[in-house]
Amino acid sequence: MLDGLDPEQREVATALHGPVCVLAGAGTGKTRAITHRIAYGVRAGILQPSSVLAVTFTNRAAGEMRGRLRQLGAAGVQARTFHSAALRQLQYFWPRAVGGELPRLVERKVQLVAEAAARGRIRLDRNELRDVTGEIEWAKVTQTVPEDYPAVVAKSGREVPRDPAEIAGIYGTYEQLKRDRGVIDFEDVLLLTVGVLQDRHDIADQVRRQYQHFVVDEYQDVSPLQQRLLELWLGDRDSLCVVGDAGQTIYSFTGATPDHLLGFRTRHPHATVVKLVRDYRSTPQVVHLANGLMGQARGRAAEHRLELVSQRGPGPEPVHAEFADEPAEAEGIARRIRELMTPRDQGGEGVPASEIAVLYRINAQSEIYEQALADHGIPYQLRGAERFFERPEVREAGVALRGAARAGGNDALLEDAAALPDQVRAVLGTKGWTPEPPAGSGAVRDRWESLAALVRLAEQLSAARSAAGAETTTLGDFVAELDERANAQHAPTVEGVTLASLHAAKGLEWDAVFLAGLTEGIMPITYAKTDEQIEEERRLLYVGVTRARVHLSLSWALSRAPGGRAGRRPSRFLQGLGGSAATGGTGGKGGVERGGGAKRRRRGPIRCRVCGRTLTDAGEIKMMRCEDCPSDLDEALYERLREWRMEQAEQLGQPAYCVFTDKTLMAIAEAVPVDESQLVTIAGVGRRKLDRFGADVLALCAGEEPGRDLPDAGPDDGLADPVGGSADE
Ligand code: ATP
Ligand code: MG
Repeated sequence: MLDGLDPEQREVATALHGPVCVLAGAGTGKTRAITHRIAYGVRAGILQPSSVLAVTFTNRAAGEMRGRLRQLGAAGVQARTFHSAALRQLQYFWPRAVGGELPRLVERKVQLVAEAAARGRIRLDRNELRDVTGEIEWAKVTQTVPEDYPAVVAKSGREVPRDPAEIAGIYGTYEQLKRDRGVIDFEDVLLLTVGVLQDRHDIADQVRRQYQHFVVDEYQDVSPLQQRLLELWLGDRDSLCVVGDAGQTIYSFTGATPDHLLGFRTRHPHATVVKLVRDYRSTPQVVHLANGLMGQARGRAAEHRLELVSQRGPGPEPVHAEFADEPAEAEGIARRIRELMTPRDQGGEGVPASEIAVLYRINAQSEIYEQALADHGIPYQLRGAERFFERPEVREAGVALRGAARAGGNDALLEDAAALPDQVRAVLGTKGWTPEPPAGSGAVRDRWESLAALVRLAEQLSAARSAAGAETTTLGDFVAELDERANAQHAPTVEGVTLASLHAAKGLEWDAVFLAGLTEGIMPITYAKTDEQIEEERRLLYVGVTRARVHLSLSWALSRAPGGRAGRRPSRFLQGLGGSAATGGTGGKGGVERGGGAKRRRRGPIRCRVCGRTLTDAGEIKMMRCEDCPSDLDEALYERLREWRMEQAEQLGQPAYCVFTDKTLMAIAEAVPVDESQLVTIAGVGRRKLDRFGADVLALCAGEEPGRDLPDAGPDDGLADPVGGSADE
């Protein structure tokens, strides 16, 4: 158990009593150390598995930790997010503490905030709505009630999007609306749990009898509310182990603060404090860049900066790549990914797709990469595909597997003695799984990818269990595992390139990482104004850089659309990192690679929709007309439609083209329909789509807000704990 750890990590793993705090930089094995610590304690008989609660930052991280613990022979330990742990306790104790069933979680928080604003005759534009919603979340996790909000803002010197009294009014009305409708929001889950544990000593005692040892990963991003919950769980005991890196604090905009991590020693004078500096994840080249980036950091977290020392052999220099426009950047990245994926004996690097990630600042950036990867036939997985278990094919497969498990050996499909993966392949074969993937992309391929992910999961489960000494793994075990994962919304990894926001990439790692769209305005994001906000953006980039094991690419585009004004500048954070635009060259050591606007592969000729000429230029193809032909397209409307489509696709867990294709959106932006009868005449808008999306599209065409949840309102796919829209909901 301890063999795979260095001396400092071993110190963490063996310090099973009393408070422990690990302060260490990215990739130094914090998560590994705490996982081994739990497993070691369990195997040594010191920790009862059911008495340990491990808290991680996302459902995915929690799922991974459970998997690792099982492999290390410590199944049965609870690994959850604060939110999911609280939700479970709240559901369990609600009937006794309050009576009746726990209220439903609100589905469209942003819409409810808009409604609350409207009641007070306040009209918020899209950005204000996002920011005001963020303020309400912040107020709640800092346990600030509406009445106190203006005073607290004045005292903290916090910059706010509207007059604090106005925000307090909206906040108050929002709380009232929730009460009227009998719903609760994401933050209420923690607030209510804290309330119950505070008021009901009998319940608090029961929870404390159950959980005696606590471990918290990513502790630098704990919110005051989460900290309060942790204190209530602990009571007067101190079996607490926290690990974190102040340099990776990226959720302070939601009210999280590294103060709890940095002040741990003061609060627990007898704590064992361990520092780790060996970076096991990344090559010296990647680590050098990461250290350089943090070397320029300012502020509190920077004072606690830990210089990383790579333990790996050398790798390629990070690539800095500049492109003329965004489609060219996406195309360049897709091409490079193809090269990386090409087997070594064919001149490539042989990196599997699942070991590659493209990371961006806001979710709206994903689509262009989705399209470019699809054009190259590269499978990809959007983070937020966490809704895996909600996909129809996965549900169907679940029903079939459950049926087969119940039928046991009586099912004609199943050989009695067949190993679990074979049984699963047999059952899923009836649902469209085949040993080889179907040709092409699209819905059929998506369906196959989901089923293939289930087969892989069966393989992993039976391997993990036999490694842990289990004799057989039955279909029933598999179904139970699926249920457990579905409850935790933990999707199995799909064999594809990961597309994710930087926020969602926290704690994860890949062989190759592409940090895309690194221009001023995106990184740092325009709404980061104060020094503190800018520093948080820098840390976000640092988190991105430190996700890479070997290959790292940093890229940006000088204009948004092909032929546009090249008015963009590369991110200020890239200065002095070894690849300034001035060095030119073509991707030599530390130089800047300049990507061209290569033609995109497409099926069939694309013709200008004005004059009918066959188009060959990438930019013209994107616009679907000649550069010189007159445009009748309302470009601003088209952009708004595309943004809206992204949100929809995300909510539905489907690719964007399932909502509407680019062509349909263009046609809408040309015709600007005023009512349903006009809208339904547009190619690609059927009856079903009209029913589903008609109101939104017409609102957008009329220049109004469709009033949906916003993609960049919080930590992207909402997997993270502190903000709304969680996968738990
Ligand atoms: P982050 O700050 O990004 O969350 P972390 O400190 O939690 O990083 P881990 O994810 O635990 O780091 O470890 C990074 C990588 O290094 C993992 O692949 C892990 O398996 C590997 N690693 C950690 N410690 C060791 C070790 N002692 N020997 C070999 N590999 C290690
Ligand atoms: Mg970690």
